[in-house]
This record gives sequence, C-alpha cells and structure tokens, in this order.
Amino acid sequence: MQKIEHIGIAVQNLDLAIANYETLLNTPCYKTEMVESERVNTAFFKVGESKIELLESLDADGVIAKFIAKKGEGLHHIAFEVANIKQEMERLKQAGFSLINEVPKAGADNKLVCFVHPKTANGVLIEICQEIKF
Ligand code: ZN
Repeated sequence: MQKIEHIGIAVQNLDLAIANYETLLNTPCYKTEMVESERVNTAFFKVGESKIELLESLDADGVIAKFIAKKGEGLHHIAFEVANIKQEMERLKQAGFSLINEVPKAGADNKLVCFVHPKTANGVLIEICQEIKF
C-alpha cells in the first residue's frame, strides 16, 4: 500500500463540520460530493499528502447514521491508496481478510474502493482505494 489517502470521519451535520474543520485545519474544504452508492454527503480537505473526508448520512437509517447512533461522531475509516485494487483485494482475501465488497465500487473523489471488515482489522474499518485514471 502506498500511503494513507484519507481518514474518514462520521459527522452529524456536514455544514457545521466543514466550518469546524476549516478552522481546525486552517485550510478550506476543496470539494463536496454526494456519493449515491453509499448514500452520503462528503467533504474533503487536503492535509499535506493525505486528506480528511467528512461523511454525513443522507438517510436516517444509512450506514453513517447507524454508526453515529451506535458510537457517536468520530473516526469512521482509514483509507490506503493502492496501485492495483483488484490485485490488492486478491492478496487480502488470500491472507484471510474479510472484504465487504466483492468487486471494487465507485467511491467519492474519483476512486475505486473496497472495504475490509473491521472484525479482521483489529476493529478499524479499512478502505483501499485506487484512483480512476481517464
Ligand atoms: Zn473513504
């Protein structure tokens, strides 16, 4: 894996969280994007080589809403950039990790993504992502 691409943070209210993180990081949010497949609104900040992704649920019973109901706002996932997501998924499967997605799917910020179940990653939801090149 190449680097921590971004860290995902589950938030209750995206607008309030954007304002808060703009002050915290002292950098403007460079992109907001609705990800239909995940039913979330996202907002991105650049911090050096890595990014922060804020995630707000579009639905009262979406995965992010359920996460917040159970654990409160906070760290949701860590995303690692890989050069070849299919190869990496195969490697992880062979090594016994439980993948949430059978095939890579379109994520936010022009990426193909796949999630590794927290139960096989010491309690942390891991995302692997590969940039879609045009
Ligand atoms: Zn993510």
